[in-house]
Amino acid sequence: MPRATGSMVDGAAPDVASVLGRPDVTRAFAWIDGSLDALTSEHIELSEIEAPPFGEALRAERVRDLLRNAGLDDVTVDEVGNVIGTRAGQTSESAIVLSAHLDTVFPAGTDCRVQRTDDRLYGPGIADDGCGLIAMIAVARALVAGDVQTRRPIRFVATVGEEGDGDLRGCRHYFASPQSSARVAAFISLDGPGTERITHRALGSRRFEVHITGPGGHSWGDFGVVNPIHAIGRVIARMSTYPVPLEPRTSFSVGVVSGGTSVNAIPADASCRVDLRSVSDVELARIEQYLRDAVAESVADENRIAAASGTVLEVAIRPIGDRPSGETPATAAIVSAAVEASQVLGIRTVLDCASTDSNIPISLGLPAVTLGGGGSGGGTHTLEEWYDPAGRDLGIKRALLLVVALADAPDGSSSIA
Ligand SMILES: [Zn+2]
Repeated sequence: MPRATGSMVDGAAPDVASVLGRPDVTRAFAWIDGSLDALTSEHIELSEIEAPPFGEALRAERVRDLLRNAGLDDVTVDEVGNVIGTRAGQTSESAIVLSAHLDTVFPAGTDCRVQRTDDRLYGPGIADDGCGLIAMIAVARALVAGDVQTRRPIRFVATVGEEGDGDLRGCRHYFASPQSSARVAAFISLDGPGTERITHRALGSRRFEVHITGPGGHSWGDFGVVNPIHAIGRVIARMSTYPVPLEPRTSFSVGVVSGGTSVNAIPADASCRVDLRSVSDVELARIEQYLRDAVAESVADENRIAAASGTVLEVAIRPIGDRPSGETPATAAIVSAAVEASQVLGIRTVLDCASTDSNIPISLGLPAVTLGGGGSGGGTHTLEEWYDPAGRDLGIKRALLLVVALADAPDGSSSIA
């Protein structure tokens, strides 16, 4: 089995294979095997409680109750709405955190009822991240059912604000207290379906709203005054030809454009929202500068064209998202333990890069990975989102193996990092 090198002490990596053979873990696995139908029912119930961005409270209450019923200690909802519960360890060393996100991308009022066919569940957010939430809760219950004891505590954290404008606010808040960061030895996020991906690289993003205003006027009578939509058009044209590098992979998209009120009025304002992403913070800084230059040049062009009118545009660039990039090295013990936990269960894996709650601990230098919660799914972030629970058990068992192996890893965070 691949083992991490470099950051480990005397080859003392978490020993996943021996965890698999433990009687307590065997009991926990038996509980998982016997609970799959019940988990699917709870998964449906949880997904039908809407959890729009900045409106996760009802779902959080239900997750709090489920974690309490699972037998965790001190299950609380923090200031921003994260649900946090702990399964005590034999010591009070720093904890292994298992996490999933509460929020969906769907606005309040979206019909979240789940339609069930023979093998699929259809519903907005059913896979992202209803599947991860129920897997996290199942791990908590299986640990209790198997009476699995670990040296380190295991903390369960259901976060708010992972998606879009949430900008990882729940996870950010959890780690903002130096006390929590110091109390975390490793972080695992269960996000979405599947078992193949082991996300150890954090895809960074910066998001901006560009807002341009002018005096407005009549399209005929005031012709010649500055036009904010024309300027936004120039910004988009400039952005769309940005020479992105293939490596480190970088992307951009203008995702929202708005402005104007009438076809025969010169608009008084216009705006666009831009998403910039890269696996490299250096490239992110470079493309952000390009956007800022593109805005300045576009506004200058429009002002020059309208110079005779004596009108000028005003512009504001407002940051609306900032997710740090970074990586847990592929050689880190948490990555090799995740690979090994997959292999002993017969799961094929690929290492990948994505934007998830793990971006925050990774940016703080803490070992973190994001894994799928098992089963399969598709149509993510659309109203046709679906989830197939076949193979759900593998995602739950792998998460359990990994947290137990890490929680019993030898002393010193270097054995996990
Ligand atoms: Zn997600």
